[in-house]
Amino acid sequence: MFGRLGTGRILSLMPTWQCTAACDACGTHSSPAVRTRLSTSDMQAAIRQAAEAGYEAVGFTGGEATLAGRVLLELIELSKSLGLATRLVTNGHWARGPDRARTKIDDFVSAGLDEINFSTGDQHVRFVPLQRVLDGMYASLARGLRVALMVEITDRRRVTAESIREMPGYVALSRRFPDSPISIYESPWMPLSPKEVAPYPDGLTVNARNVAQRSGCDSILTTTTVQADGSITACCGLGMQDIPELRIGDIRVTPLSQADRAASEDFLKRWIRVEGPERILAWAATHDPDIEWENMYAHRCQACLRLYQDPAVRRTIRDHHQEKAADVAFAEWLLYHYAGADPAGPD
Ligand code: SF4
Ligand code: SF4
Repeated sequence: MFGRLGTGRILSLMPTWQCTAACDACGTHSSPAVRTRLSTSDMQAAIRQAAEAGYEAVGFTGGEATLAGRVLLELIELSKSLGLATRLVTNGHWARGPDRARTKIDDFVSAGLDEINFSTGDQHVRFVPLQRVLDGMYASLARGLRVALMVEITDRRRVTAESIREMPGYVALSRRFPDSPISIYESPWMPLSPKEVAPYPDGLTVNARNVAQRSGCDSILTTTTVQADGSITACCGLGMQDIPELRIGDIRVTPLSQADRAASEDFLKRWIRVEGPERILAWAATHDPDIEWENMYAHRCQACLRLYQDPAVRRTIRDHHQEKAADVAFAEWLLYHYAGADPAGPD
């Protein structure tokens, strides 16, 4: 769901699955009606354990993490006091005008927030006007926060990175803060079933021509998520609630380091880390030509759902994964020892 603050390990913490919005196909099945929340003591425990385990950062996400109110500020303070960098992922609903936006951002910055990521797109603007995101970004830049904006990609969408850059509010803030570039990312909006094929702009879906360019998943074994129901997950991807195998513990009974260790011993997770689900799917199809995959998936997490949910793909992985052992080991060596990534998983 978000990029990396640095090269180290990240705790993704979901204080609640509740959200002010109810986007179709929300990866966490969030909406205003969802009430699941994690207790403050469990969240504090997760942050302390992350610091002890040498994590670099905490990302607060959800649902809508700001619904945790004062507790969120206390958790940001705790994270900073333990030397962890902090990031908030939000839909920006709270930025109801420049003054409200400024007050909220002042609170976040005073608590120790380092970075804020706003999410928007055709789904999000059904619930949160883009102007609020712009007011939130303006207030954030004024207080020196690093700002990123994530925009959904769907077929025939109205909201694009380009259309946002042309908005008078965006032009004004980029002129006012010329030395504070905003990172804008666009990411495909995906169905939560691997069987549903969504329409996308040309060139976005994976197929035999472009699959070699797909990279490994930089979330699995790097970002550990503690969800609002207490479950610990081995990534922060959109498939995590629908892939039981990504659940690696429960923060109320499983130490974070123990969950991470167990995840790092799972060959498929390591394979996904270095090659990504799309290349594994393409490999599976070389063993079983009935596995159709081309031009079906634009988002890697939808391809990942397919890996775990399709019996034919699972069977192929179970029966033939041994042949990939050497490739995965070599790719890990390149990643962790040559390229210098954090050996979050494999020793
Ligand atoms: S704003 Fe984000 S968390 Fe909330 S419903 Fe939409 S996609 Fe889900
Ligand atoms: S590709 Fe799979 S492992 Fe990676 S973030 Fe998505 S659901 Fe998680």
